[in-house]
Amino acid sequence: MIKQIVFAITLLITFGVFAWTISHLFRYFKFTKKKPLGHFGKRLWITIKVAFLQEKILRRPLVGLMHALVWWGFILILFGSLEMVVDGLFGTEKIFQGLGGFYDFMMASGDIFAPVIALSIIGFLIRRLFMHIKRFYGPEMKPVSKADANLALVLIFLLMVSLSAMNVNYVLWTQATGENAAGVYPVGNWIASHFVGTSAETAWFWYQFNWWSHILLIFIFANILPYSKHFHVFMSVPNVFISKLEPLGYVDNMPNITKEVKLMMDPNAAFAEAPEDEGEPERFGVLDVEDTNWIQYFNSLSCTECGRCTSVCPANITGKLLSPRKVMMDTRARMKEKGPGLVKEGKNYDDGKHLNGTYLSEEELWACTLCNACARECPVNINQPSLILDMRRYLVLEESKAPSGLNTVFANIENNGAPWQFSPEDRMLWAEGLEVPLMADRFAAGEKPEFLFWVGSAGAFDDRYKKVTREFVKILNHLKTDYAVLGTEESDSGDVARRAGNEMLYQMQAMMNIEVLNGYEVKKIITCDPHDFNTLKNEYPDFDGHYEVIHHTQFLQKMIAEKKLNLNGDTLKGKKITFHDPCYLGRANDEYEAPRDVLKAIPVVNVEMERHKSFALCCGAGGGQMFKEAEKGEKEVFIERTEEALETGAEIICTACPFCMTMITDGIKYKNKEEEVKNYDITELVSMSLGL
Ligand code: SF4
Ligand code: SF4
Repeated sequence: MIKQIVFAITLLITFGVFAWTISHLFRYFKFTKKKPLGHFGKRLWITIKVAFLQEKILRRPLVGLMHALVWWGFILILFGSLEMVVDGLFGTEKIFQGLGGFYDFMMASGDIFAPVIALSIIGFLIRRLFMHIKRFYGPEMKPVSKADANLALVLIFLLMVSLSAMNVNYVLWTQATGENAAGVYPVGNWIASHFVGTSAETAWFWYQFNWWSHILLIFIFANILPYSKHFHVFMSVPNVFISKLEPLGYVDNMPNITKEVKLMMDPNAAFAEAPEDEGEPERFGVLDVEDTNWIQYFNSLSCTECGRCTSVCPANITGKLLSPRKVMMDTRARMKEKGPGLVKEGKNYDDGKHLNGTYLSEEELWACTLCNACARECPVNINQPSLILDMRRYLVLEESKAPSGLNTVFANIENNGAPWQFSPEDRMLWAEGLEVPLMADRFAAGEKPEFLFWVGSAGAFDDRYKKVTREFVKILNHLKTDYAVLGTEESDSGDVARRAGNEMLYQMQAMMNIEVLNGYEVKKIITCDPHDFNTLKNEYPDFDGHYEVIHHTQFLQKMIAEKKLNLNGDTLKGKKITFHDPCYLGRANDEYEAPRDVLKAIPVVNVEMERHKSFALCCGAGGGQMFKEAEKGEKEVFIERTEEALETGAEIICTACPFCMTMITDGIKYKNKEEEVKNYDITELVSMSLGL
């Protein structure tokens, strides 16, 4: 009875303290912005894959397996912990034993996993303390962060040791008393066999000692967790459940901007739609934590500080200030700092500091290429780029602050419909001497071509990429494809403007283009530009632009599979080639095989770079970087990527994106390798193989 009373009081204190801490953390959610969830079936599936089957952790097999074993073991051991709580409260002994075979299985699993977890933890501690793993370091990793990680690991180790010792002594006690053991303990039995002859009293004492040690450690651990990075033990599963379902390349729409844009484009229609009084206008983008949405704040609470995101971030790898882990840690720290003031004084509380500015500098925010490598890598599906972009949106839309190169781009898109200072009338100059059907002509003749070939701004104006556009059109003509282009009716997709924070300009471009595309009743679009591919495919539907969008690598893959292209020309035979995955084709839209299938059909030797497919390093051009000076660092991203490509010994670096082409070409020049190494778009290789 005394044991029950002591246990009940301890449990009450544990729950009380835990509930108090959690309520303090969660009361801040009411200051964040709403965001709908929906799609519960899909969310459940993603939770099973990412959280329970540890799909992302296992991307790095060895360390991933150690972590996965700890996680799976934890889940199984939870069953035994629950039984201990019930036993403690009701004075019972192994109350779930009536569950028979299931009980035996759960006890045996816990018994086996305890030493497995303990050994994994020793491995983790050795890695942390004695091996200089880069991702465990960084300016944001203060000594307290490291101490916190180590303390949590030591606690888990002690939990496992006490569990094993409890099982061993329980087995010894049953052997000494002749009682039937409830449950199966393979490891406990094996260790107990080395202590034969232990008296019942001794075994019982140590059994009880370890029972109490184990349960008290659980209670202490549960109450340390909310103050520690290991809070993810609670948060990671729900965080995966609420994570982004759209392709990584998709960017959330800003409905308050849509209203403004509609008002500008058609004041009468927008006034007719607008409700009369909507109260205080919402701030555009994120200045401080209360501008984040609840999912972004939840993300920050779920961050394990593992640094996997930072370790793959091209900006960080090349010595820039940006660290996606820091973005999450700063968001959490800022809410912890500002939250109490918000609770006390309400939404207008101002302490003169901001997440965007005080915690995170413009230099950090503008260094991001929006390559999504961080989000792809994060084991708990945190979306760091969404927060970075929202802070850029604030800088551009509220403060008109952007690097000068990007301001020029905004002005050019606004005036010329392209990021460069070219006249929109020159949009078809690339096609000189080629037969390229115009949509307006085909439509006027009562025809609806099967495909619209979206040339894109780079395809129409960038000197190097104009050659690629021409080669692709030659292939289309060779295939007698039923297609047309918009010509001077095409305008910039708005992708660069959007990712550089100028949502207003993006939406204007999107709405204008959609009006033209829908006017021609376009159903299928082919494009050579992965950025436009992503925007047209994933983002235009938000404005009623619904099309089947095909990247040129996918089109070529299909033509090859259907045996419509015979790529047996000798020009490239035996050449060593390496393919650079464009972020907005690969990570953003999960297309890795189409370009590789095309290369397989050409008689070349394809060698992969160390970082390829979903691990591929960005070329450094995305997120508007192509049009601005790079932030300070040890080297530029395009050099890092070109060096990796050159290490393969390839004679040709193959790309499938206009931005990647510019960056890799610059990289080859920088390394003085123009004589030995060439950079071609995949279209050009196909065209050469066809002898066009
Ligand atoms: S999107 Fe890319 S550049 Fe930006 S923080 Fe993530 S990994 Fe770094
Ligand atoms: S954001 Fe994700 S990958 Fe980055 S440190 Fe946090 S948990 Fe790790």
